Amino acid sequence: MSLTDTEVKDFTVSLFTQKSERDLQRKVGASNISDPCTKHLAKALLNEPEPEIKYWLGGKIGTAIHSFIEHSIGNGVHANDFDFVVEDKITLGDIDGYGVVNSRPDLVIPSRNHLIDWKTSSRPKIKKLQNLVAGLKSDEDSENTLKKYIGQVQLYAWGLNNSGTKIDRASLVFINRDGTYENDIWVYSVDYDESIALALWNRVKYLWKELEEGLHPDSIAPHPLCFKCNVGI
Ligand code: SF4
Repeated sequence: MSLTDTEVKDFTVSLFTQKSERDLQRKVGASNISDPCTKHLAKALLNEPEPEIKYWLGGKIGTAIHSFIEHSIGNGVHANDFDFVVEDKITLGDIDGYGVVNSRPDLVIPSRNHLIDWKTSSRPKIKKLQNLVAGLKSDEDSENTLKKYIGQVQLYAWGLNNSGTKIDRASLVFINRDGTYENDIWVYSVDYDESIALALWNRVKYLWKELEEGLHPDSIAPHPLCFKCNVGI
């Protein structure tokens, strides 16, 4: 007997919603430590499960794009003769009582002292980010997003520099999920700035100490710009 449309749909959804290695991650990494929401970081440190997200497909498409790029690099589909290190585990540091904190930068090019982080996005979001960096128009949500992403790559660069892989510059490569051609890929790069990474590292160390001393995440104010906490999903 053939499948009903509902069975086919449920099967398709199940393929997307199975847990990935990243979903099962137990410890915090650079993307948590750069989170502007201290409450969220506290929950991640305590390994509290993330609530089910209703709008999950965008994240899965992002994961698929990462896999595609990884596959392309693995197949040697690149124009230049760079050395690539893809999603290699690096150590950021050790937090007393918490343990070693590792992370996986998307792509490192050691011979060029450069790292790359792929970010899937959308045309309206990228437009806002471009307006922000061009100084044309700013909005708090985009400022927040950019701050988090810059913090994340600075932490990667910090960890790599500390372990002997020199990194001078990091690129955020935004790829529009709703894009159609090259102009839907936008590169925004920053020079390495140790002070950003150090400030984030000191924040997480201090927060962990406070949690050990009894601070409860519920007593930390939610981030004012977070859509999820504000509408309760
Ligand atoms: S405000 Fe948002 S980011 Fe912060 S804890 Fe709530 S859901 Fe997480």
